[in-house]
Amino acid sequence: LDAQLLISAQTTSRYVNALYGATALDLARQGVFHIETGIGGIAQALVEKIQSLGGDVQYRWRVNRIEVQQGRAIGVYARRGKHAQTDEFFPADFVIANTTPWDLHTFLAENSPKRLRQEVNKRRLGWGAFVLHLGVKSDAFPPDFPDHHQIITDMDSPLGETKSLFLSLSPTWDTSRAPAGQRAMTITTHTHVSQWWELLNRNPEAYAAKKADYTERILTTVEQLIPGFRDKLTLVLPGTPVTYHFYTARHLGMVGGFPQTSLFKARSPRTGIPNVRLVGDSIFPGQSTAGVTLGAIRVAEDVKRHLAITPIFANQSQVEKLSWQ
Ligand SMILES: Cc1cc2nc3c(=O)[nH]c(=O)nc-3n(C[C@H](O)[C@H](O)[C@H](O)COP(=O)(O)OP(=O)(O)OC[C@H]3O[C@@H](n4cnc5c(N)ncnc54)[C@H](O)[C@@H]3O)c2cc1C
Repeated sequence: LDAQLLISAQTTSRYVNALYGATALDLARQGVFHIETGIGGIAQALVEKIQSLGGDVQYRWRVNRIEVQQGRAIGVYARRGKHAQTDEFFPADFVIANTTPWDLHTFLAENSPKRLRQEVNKRRLGWGAFVLHLGVKSDAFPPDFPDHHQIITDMDSPLGETKSLFLSLSPTWDTSRAPAGQRAMTITTHTHVSQWWELLNRNPEAYAAKKADYTERILTTVEQLIPGFRDKLTLVLPGTPVTYHFYTARHLGMVGGFPQTSLFKARSPRTGIPNVRLVGDSIFPGQSTAGVTLGAIRVAEDVKRHLAITPIFANQSQVEKLSWQ
């Protein structure tokens, strides 16, 4: 139960909010869902939807400042790619930041409201993930081998840091995920983010050694579950919070949002600036594709109220049923 809660609520049975924990534990009973082409398929579907509604999606831009005048956001400064020398300004009526509170604070700089400043100073850092992205020959797995597994190697120590693992395999029917005769596999373990940055800054060789050690420990554990597993590997790509930061720009490479310990302490999308909202796994109800979608529906409704936009959902009652608050 604790391992299941950790991956869904970012905390264990002793601390999780009971209602949230009950919902999270029910997920496994309801079953998991796969989308053909995986997570990239969702991104592609969203892009097509935005474009079909007349919107535009810009790639390879990184926002580095939200411009505020007289207490309201007026747009963002962003830079394209790695080689551009100057920022470009994108004016905006409303800014929705798909970031952590720490990143939002950085973008707002001297305009960061007092409460946001206090929050980023006081809030405990969230979890990170150490991940192995693997290519595996399909004959590594026995027939009817389930696509998801949780492994706990040590029942007495805290979970995470290779002691609890979550394995996900691409479904056999999704041939887009790996070359013929192979399957894509991810293995993740919760990890504290700071240790990776400290090592990287102090001793890059020690950082590389720790990365190799975690990889080795995880592969050894899986080998016990699936004898001969290592011989079937065609690709091994380890990732630390530093890797996550490189690809997603999330503060210290944290993932998963905040531990869901109390409904009354849940992070709201409000930021202290009337036309800026947070969205994503930092706000209630937190992480997962379903979680961030529910949070985003609430934010979209809120923004529409502020901008007096006609609802885009044909069936408004459906949206209301989905909105938790
Ligand atoms: C290892 C792992 C496995 C997971 N497996 C599952 C799963 O099987 N099922 C499930 O439902 N959930 C899963 N999750 C959780 C899910 O991936 C997250 O909850 C979800 O991606 C969070 O969405 P988000 O929008 O908050 O953040 P993100 O997905 O991080 O999106 C934020 C986006 O904003 C971009 N961005 C950040 N800063 C800037 C900037 N300054 N300028 C421009 N762009 C910027 C980032 O590059 C990123 O694309 C998993 C998470 C991890 C880490």
